[in-house]
Amino acid sequence: MRQPLIAGNWKMNGNRSSVETLLSNVINGASTISKTEVVVCPSFPFLDLSERLLSGTSIKLGAQNTSTKESGAYTGEVSASMLANFGCQYVICGHSERREYYGETDAIIAEKVSICVEKGMRAILCVGETLNQREQEQTESVISTQLDGVITQIGIDIFNNIEIAYEPVWAIGTGKTATPEQAQSVHAFIRQKIASHSLVIAEKIRILYGGSMKAENACDLLSQSDIDGGLIGGASLVANDFLAICRAG
Ligand code: 13P
Repeated sequence: MRQPLIAGNWKMNGNRSSVETLLSNVINGASTISKTEVVVCPSFPFLDLSERLLSGTSIKLGAQNTSTKESGAYTGEVSASMLANFGCQYVICGHSERREYYGETDAIIAEKVSICVEKGMRAILCVGETLNQREQEQTESVISTQLDGVITQIGIDIFNNIEIAYEPVWAIGTGKTATPEQAQSVHAFIRQKIASHSLVIAEKIRILYGGSMKAENACDLLSQSDIDGGLIGGASLVANDFLAICRAG
């Protein structure tokens, strides 16, 4: 059985005081949640504060991005070792916003996944198609190529140490959620693709859904056989909404 995982991607939001309030409320509410693994991913400047607030709780800390480099003269970058040093156990890699606005290619994303795992963290590898690609019936080929970036560059074994998040770009921040059937069909495709390399990993790997997941649609999505959790954007910024999704998990 795969334990459900609900991760909040806070994106570039918050300040010292709002982060403290949000996280304290999530911590209080999550104390009764045991079935679901809960992760929060604040922006870099809030990792230290979040690590301290989360200490002694079962909620885990994640980051939204990492450098591909170990250390050195890379102004403005944050290394995977630094993230691990601040208590991160997860790192979101290859989010569609990074692919679209910061030119991250499948090759760069594969390097990020690799360095996170090398430093002892789990990567959350994001894949997903645009609306245009869906309309052209390219969903499966796009996702297949995105997964191949990691499979061919690093090898299938790394999938023992990562989760995959299926995030249809057209559903992110738009209020348009994939129907449970649409999402399940892509999740099943992803699992089959992994199974063509390793049945054991395919059975074990958690595939999260992301894209306008909210308290109201979480149950229907999470009850699908290949949906093992969620990567939550907007709704993770409101403690009660995030907690309701965690309870649905
Ligand atoms: P929303 O939940 O705001 O649609 O964002 C999803 C997402 O991008 C999570 O990584």
